Amino acid sequence: MKRALLSGILTAQIFLASSLAQPAQAPVEAARPFVAEQTAPGVYVVVGPYALANIQNAGQISNSGFIIGKNSVAVVDTGGSYLAGQRLRATIREKTDLPIGYVILTHDHPDHIFGSAAFLGDNAIFIGHKNLPEALRTHAEDYLRHARKDFGDAIFAGTRVVIPTVLVDSPQTIDLGDRPLKLEAWPPAHTNCDLTVLDEATGTWLMGDLIFAGHVPALDGNLNGWLAVLRQLEQRPAARIVPGHGPAAMPWPEAAQRVDTYLSTLRDDVRASIRAGETMQEAADKAARSERDKWELFDDFNRRNAIAAYHELEWE
Ligand SMILES: [Zn+2]
Repeated sequence: MKRALLSGILTAQIFLASSLAQPAQAPVEAARPFVAEQTAPGVYVVVGPYALANIQNAGQISNSGFIIGKNSVAVVDTGGSYLAGQRLRATIREKTDLPIGYVILTHDHPDHIFGSAAFLGDNAIFIGHKNLPEALRTHAEDYLRHARKDFGDAIFAGTRVVIPTVLVDSPQTIDLGDRPLKLEAWPPAHTNCDLTVLDEATGTWLMGDLIFAGHVPALDGNLNGWLAVLRQLEQRPAARIVPGHGPAAMPWPEAAQRVDTYLSTLRDDVRASIRAGETMQEAADKAARSERDKWELFDDFNRRNAIAAYHELEWE
C-alpha cells in the first residue's frame, strides 16, 4: 500500500495545459493568507464570496476547507487559481506546521481545483472520484482558457491542473492521525464526479457542490440523479455540513431543502414545457422563475440549468 501510494505521489505530478507558463517562482509563504473560519475543532473553511474571479479574491469564489489531524492535514478543494492555492496554503500554515498529506478534490469545476499546483511541493496525495481524471482531461484546458479570457491572465499565472491518482469508487477512509475522514463517491448529480468528505470526529460533512446556499445551484451532471443523491444524503445525520458555495457551516438536513426545492421546481417546470410541446428556448424562459428571488446569480445560471434539464428530460 505504501509503495502504491508513493507511486501515486510521483504520478500525481501530471499537468494539463502544458503550453502555459511555469508556476510563479514567488515563495509560497509570501502569499497573503485568507481568513479561515473554524466550523468545528480542527476543521477550517475559507468562504468564497458570491462573485466572479478577480485579483482581490484570487479566483477564490467557492469554499475550501482543511482538516488538521494529529499527524497531517487534509485540504478539501484548492481554490480557483494557483494564487488562491498559495493563499490557502499560507492560511493552513498560520494554523499548523504539520505536513499537508492529502489534497481531496470534490469535483472537476475550476473554482474548486485550480489551486492544486500550490500543494505539489508538499508531496501530498491527490484524491478524487473515480471519474475525476477523465473529467479533468476532457474539460480542464477549456476551463482554463475561458477563465483567462474572461478574467485576465494575471489571476491565473502558474495555474495548472493536477490529476488525482488515488481514486474513490466505494467508500474509503483516510486517517490524519486519530482523525478518520470518510470519502464517498456519488452517482451523477451536480457533476459526474461528486465526492463528499465526512470528518467522523466532529460529524462535519464537506459536501462540495452537492449543496449550494445563496449562490443558485449549477447543473452539470444529472438532474434526476442530483435529486436522488440529495434524498440519500438527507437520510444520514451530520452535526453540520459545509456547502461548496455558501456559509462556512449549515445545519443538516435543513441545508438540503432549498436545493431540493429549486431542483424539483426546475424539473417539474421543464417537464411541463416538454409535455406542452414547447421548445427548449421557451422552456428556458419559464423554468423555475418562481425561484428567481431566492438565489444570487440566478440569471447567470438558471437558463443553462433549464437547457441541461431539457436535454435530460425530453427522452423520459
Ligand atoms: Zn461545481
